[in-house]
Amino acid sequence: MSTASISGWCFTSSSSSTNVSSLKRATLRPIVSARLGSSSSSSSSSSQTPPSLIRDQPVFAAPAPIITPHLVNSHSNMDPVFFQPTLSRRQCVADICLAVFNINHREEMSKDAYEEAIAALQKALIENGEVGPIAAAGVDQVTAQAATADTTKAFDPVERIKDGFIHFKREKYEKNPALYSELSKGQSPKFMVFACSDSRVCPSHTLDMQPGEAFMVRNIANMVPAYDKTRYSGVGAAIEYAVLHLKVEYIVVIGHSACGGIKGLMSFPYDGTESTDFIEDWVKICMPARNKVKASSNGAPFGDQCATCEKEAVNVSLGNLLSYPFVREGLVNKTLGIKGGYYDFVNGSFELWTLDFGLSSNLSV
Ligand SMILES: [Zn+2]
Repeated sequence: MSTASISGWCFTSSSSSTNVSSLKRATLRPIVSARLGSSSSSSSSSSQTPPSLIRDQPVFAAPAPIITPHLVNSHSNMDPVFFQPTLSRRQCVADICLAVFNINHREEMSKDAYEEAIAALQKALIENGEVGPIAAAGVDQVTAQAATADTTKAFDPVERIKDGFIHFKREKYEKNPALYSELSKGQSPKFMVFACSDSRVCPSHTLDMQPGEAFMVRNIANMVPAYDKTRYSGVGAAIEYAVLHLKVEYIVVIGHSACGGIKGLMSFPYDGTESTDFIEDWVKICMPARNKVKASSNGAPFGDQCATCEKEAVNVSLGNLLSYPFVREGLVNKTLGIKGGYYDFVNGSFELWTLDFGLSSNLSV
């Protein structure tokens, strides 16, 4: 990619802000609301104490309740409830039925859970002769289910998050007290980074950026829209905060290989029909990149066109950054620099280039 084409194109691309005039009529949709937790209280959730992410013990509260696959300790912290001699026969029958029901309606059961359920039912069979036939049927059912079930350990999101935080706290937080003590006072990042939301391209990993180093915005296809206080206030607020308050020294927009957002940009018909609620409208921020690539493709394979567009879209974003007055001011005063980047995770390479009012150089790694 030539530097000249980047710089020249960026200034040309500033006209891309005209695409913001194509405001789309909002579609009426049902309002769906949800809140964390299962409290039925009508009081404001704001009165609840927010969770603390960093504390000594316990790291995590109890997980959300799930259907218990067996009847252990549902009424007592001693023995399985239906083994208690004080329970009526009817209660025993009901509990065994409930056990079988729960087993059948639990989507994922570990091998241990099956074994526990079978053991519990077998115990009921021995100790409660009167309800023996029901328990025996339950044993048969659970045994058959266990034989065919996939007993690989089910993914547990709570455990994954808990383990991740414990690892972070032990290996990083507690081993870098100076860093985290400093960060507790405030942040002073050198970089503002725009990166794709793609789970494979986190700059904290690919660029080894440490906490406090980069103020990040991640979105579909790492796009920077042109200045627009109505449509893109979220992005504008982030840029404003980064430039005027954090006083970052560089804004880096990083594209990447095999970007689904760019593939969408290159694929959507844009003929008046829409198949998505947000994506088509969002990625057309970089419509000038699509138009440029398609105009010069010369019949190149679609994958190659997308790869080219992934870089051209970065340049559209760099050009759009110039539509923010505080960004322009930073560039003129040389307190701010703008860079484009491209992470190719197929080949394991990273390119970096600079937009510097027409005078830039490439750096390929
Ligand atoms: Zn992407």
